[in-house]
Amino acid sequence: MSMSRTSQTFLLNTGARIPGIGLGTWKSPGTEVRAAVSHALRSGYRHIDTAWNYRNEVEVGQGIKDSGVLREQIWITTKLDNPWHHKAREGFEESLRDLGCGYVDLYLIHFPCSTNPDDQSKHLDDWDFVKTWQEMQELLKTGKVKNIGVSNFQIRHLERLLNDPLCKTVPAVNQIELHPGNPSNKLLEYCKSKGIHCTAYSCLGGAIDNPLYKEPAVIGTAEELGKTPAQVLLMWSIQRGTSVIPKSVTPSRIDSNFDLDGWALSDSHMEALNGIKTRFKVVNDSWMPIKVFFGDDE
Ligand code: NDP
Repeated sequence: MSMSRTSQTFLLNTGARIPGIGLGTWKSPGTEVRAAVSHALRSGYRHIDTAWNYRNEVEVGQGIKDSGVLREQIWITTKLDNPWHHKAREGFEESLRDLGCGYVDLYLIHFPCSTNPDDQSKHLDDWDFVKTWQEMQELLKTGKVKNIGVSNFQIRHLERLLNDPLCKTVPAVNQIELHPGNPSNKLLEYCKSKGIHCTAYSCLGGAIDNPLYKEPAVIGTAEELGKTPAQVLLMWSIQRGTSVIPKSVTPSRIDSNFDLDGWALSDSHMEALNGIKTRFKVVNDSWMPIKVFFGDDE
């Protein structure tokens, strides 16, 4: 029996199933994202990843409606922005209104950083992400959020959260930067041990000129299999057990990123890709009032 990669889902600790492949929308301009989302859904994608911070939830919502795909067949992920941690309910309601949908499937704390909205160079004095998580747990009770999770949490953040008596719900997902240039094996293993599914962001390594497209292991594997380097990178992530959310506003790339059925990477391909030594990150914390990345997760 051949497995369909594109219809593969990953089981979360809530019993819900997150689609293995979704469309990312960071830096997707409002003018283009509506068509991109609609195209992706009509091509078979069933997961759309957005965030309050991307300032495109209105157009993402329009694209979802344009597609004609039923809401209940789509998984929508969005995220609470850093300056909204102490008023999560309001931030969430804004996202819901902008998306124009009655509920979201997954709501994430975007970063473990509670920025002061009145001065974004400062962290809120009397607040941290454990309090934010309490707000997320309250949101769950409204039924308008089906699953709650975190993003950009390192082991130290998760340890703190999970060991706090106020934490009643284990995050369903940790959405983190994962690609062969930032494999985060230790963090991935830690999440697995706690029953937290990881979604790989910047799973193509970000911008088109990133170093992964020059890696012999990526190029060689793609040539051998007659696939594109991007397809190899996505398959590597999925075979590691992480869902992927490649971003594109280009219809041909949206399609080819979803063309993952009927083939797989062998153990030796996986080993070659795991052996890549180049290290880089797409997302940094220099724009936030506190440090969130410590570079010690592997
Ligand atoms: P990706 O790794 O998805 O790369 C996106 C870039 O790759 C774009 O420039 C896109 O160009 C290009 N691209 C897409 N497909 C191909 C292809 N087949 N061949 C060559 N180039 C291609 O980067 P992102 O950083 O956007 O990460 C993906 C998503 O993850 C984000 O969009 C967002 O939804 C989420 N994310 C979450 C973060 C968080 O803090 N939780 C942080 C960063 C990302 P084009 O669009 O022009 O086709």
